[in-house]
Amino acid sequence: MAKRVPQRMCVVCRKMRNKRDLLRLVRRDGEIRLDAIGKMPGRGFYVCKDPACIEALWKGRRLEQQLELKALEPACKDQLKEQVMAEALRWQQEQAAELQRQQRLAKGETTVLLPDGRAVRRVIKDGNHKSL
Ligand SMILES: [Zn+2]
Repeated sequence: MAKRVPQRMCVVCRKMRNKRDLLRLVRRDGEIRLDAIGKMPGRGFYVCKDPACIEALWKGRRLEQQLELKALEPACKDQLKEQVMAEALRWQQEQAAELQRQQRLAKGETTVLLPDGRAVRRVIKDGNHKSL
């Protein structure tokens, strides 16, 4: 049975997404942190790992409102944005690599497990098997 992936909502675009496709920001003891695993205690909210949503969140006072803060030091706000963007970009690269892997599979390139446990990659073309 497939494991149910918890869903959370991005505060910017209001889309429900898998929790692992979102970043969580948490305010605790006067500090704002990027919660990579989504388990930090404190007041938190979620945003897509999408530069468009992150940019929108950093515009005006939106971030402050989400964190229920009167003000956020500009230097601190910039630093946090850098961190969040870096995490979003890293995730996008991972997604792109996964997509490439799936495209290779769709093209008929596959891993064949031999009876003795050795794995070989093969490309299946026109019904002929060619070892790589
Ligand atoms: Zn979003």
